Amino acid sequence: MNSPNCISEVRGECADGTDRCTVYLTFDDGPNPDCTPDILDLLGEKQASATFFVIGTYASDQPKLIQRMIAEGHRVGNHTMTHRDLAECHLGQIQFEILEANRIIRRACPEAQLTHMRAPYGSWTEQVLTTCGRAGLTPVHWSIDPQDWSRPGVEAIVGTVMASVRPGAIVLLHDGCPPNEFRPDAEAGLRDQTLKALSHLIPELHERGFAIRSLPPTH
Ligand SMILES: [Zn+2]
Repeated sequence: MNSPNCISEVRGECADGTDRCTVYLTFDDGPNPDCTPDILDLLGEKQASATFFVIGTYASDQPKLIQRMIAEGHRVGNHTMTHRDLAECHLGQIQFEILEANRIIRRACPEAQLTHMRAPYGSWTEQVLTTCGRAGLTPVHWSIDPQDWSRPGVEAIVGTVMASVRPGAIVLLHDGCPPNEFRPDAEAGLRDQTLKALSHLIPELHERGFAIRSLPPTH
């Protein structure tokens, strides 16, 4: 579900033709101690910045990964406290999910500029949007979803992104798995396809002339 009240791509990219066009890679459902460090290593190696929409309970367990994201020039966004479908929550629960995640992320890394929020499953409701607004968070959807979480194969992930990429695109990827979907038997190689796809995607995007940056603070 998309909503006209949240952004799904960054407008105005390349409008004046003087700057390099930008693509925004976003990673949801981390930080995960097995997946996130490899993704951060690769982003650093390829000189690309990204935005990580983190889950509060995981951020609480992994504050060092939040600090590392910020120290390495990435942006951290709010992906709620426990990854519930907010369309099924009442207002008090929505406020807890969003505000508590903000508090946990700020506690993990006081330097983090927390300005973006992504609803789990893209479930945007009026109450979610209002709560975001009051918390000073811009709601961020996506424009390209290669469904990396479903492990469709490295080529499929790369192909989907490259087929529809355009200036200002926001790409949805995952560096973890939500607590309500976690299966211990699936842990090994959880996001190996995402990592491998990324190692192809970044150079291909650079070759097509795109810069890869974290989301801008205001829109
Ligand atoms: Zn998610």
